[in-house]
Amino acid sequence: MNIKNKKFIILLLTLCLLSFVLIGCTNNETAPKTPLSKSNYMLGTYITISLYDSQNEKIIDEAFLRIRDIENKMSINAEEPSQITHLNEASGSNSVELSEDTFHVLERGLYYSKLTDGKFDITIGPIVKLWNIGTEYAAVPDDEVLKEKLKLVDYNKLSLNKGNLTAKLEMEGMMVDLGAIAKGYAADEVASILRKNGVKHAIINLGGNILVVGNNINGAPWKIGIQDPYNSRNEYLGIVEVVDKTVVTSGIYERYLEVDGKRYHHILDPATGYPADNGLAAVSIITDKSIDGDGLSTSTFLLGLEKGLELIENTEDTEAIFVTTDKKIYLTSGIRNTFILTNKEYTVMD
Ligand code: ADP
Ligand code: MG
Repeated sequence: MNIKNKKFIILLLTLCLLSFVLIGCTNNETAPKTPLSKSNYMLGTYITISLYDSQNEKIIDEAFLRIRDIENKMSINAEEPSQITHLNEASGSNSVELSEDTFHVLERGLYYSKLTDGKFDITIGPIVKLWNIGTEYAAVPDDEVLKEKLKLVDYNKLSLNKGNLTAKLEMEGMMVDLGAIAKGYAADEVASILRKNGVKHAIINLGGNILVVGNNINGAPWKIGIQDPYNSRNEYLGIVEVVDKTVVTSGIYERYLEVDGKRYHHILDPATGYPADNGLAAVSIITDKSIDGDGLSTSTFLLGLEKGLELIENTEDTEAIFVTTDKKIYLTSGIRNTFILTNKEYTVMD
């Protein structure tokens, strides 16, 4: 090969590399045109809404108002007590009236608790509070205290009454925590506001929970980067192509506490009270509704590789990417032909 050819190939390779880096720089998505984009810190995360076929800021403002509304109703960390705070405070004594949306999210939370036989448990609140991961008070709890608090984790003792939209926690000290599912619901609500306003091409990014509206402005599928759990935010290990879908990831990288070189992440196993430690580093779910993507990503992370894969293979219109701590990637059958691996430190398994 002559020098000229060599230079040309190097230039070509550099350009290829650059184009992938660019995808990573735009929050994991390829942007064919500058969108109208706004960000806000809500639900404990940075949220960005990008419209590609509208310059109407009012649509985004309406969407953020709706997210704030969801946060006010469902968060247990907000300054003002939410409906969930009231429910938790009334544990062991009386039932509490809820809004339709809070009831719906609670109902889905209970659904995933039952589906996973309590690996996902919507009443994990007392354990989450004990660890405080993601806050300045995060600490490894005392083992005895942890064991005591585990007695308060039991989704069977959450009763829902659909007729009058009320809920009750049967034991005093019980706490619901919607952290594993509320962001997904918020993404769905934003999507419906955008669609109602005629938006056909948009990306909603709730701290890595992604929902795409339509296809991209060029008529091609959106390319979404799958977060590399061993690299900083916005480094991705592969790409999926999606239209009108949500891509939701749960993993060890999102929030964690490090003590004596050991990392404690925020997805807690109700069997032990400690972070799930089953060889998984992350799970990404690709499906239609973000509330289900969110519920399933946390659920499958807790179920582990084998049971998690089985669950997703048996769930319609849903695919998953499992990443193990030894950097192997397992794909469900529906995306084996379309997933693009970009980080060669990982191996896609058969
Ligand atoms: P992220 O919030 O990073 O998107 P997840 O959707 O996986 O990640 O949710 C993790 C959150 O879910 C935790 O911060 C906590 O509030 C809650 N959680 C932790 N363990 C469980 C569990 N076993 N069942 C249900 N919710 C859990
Ligand atoms: Mg989740």
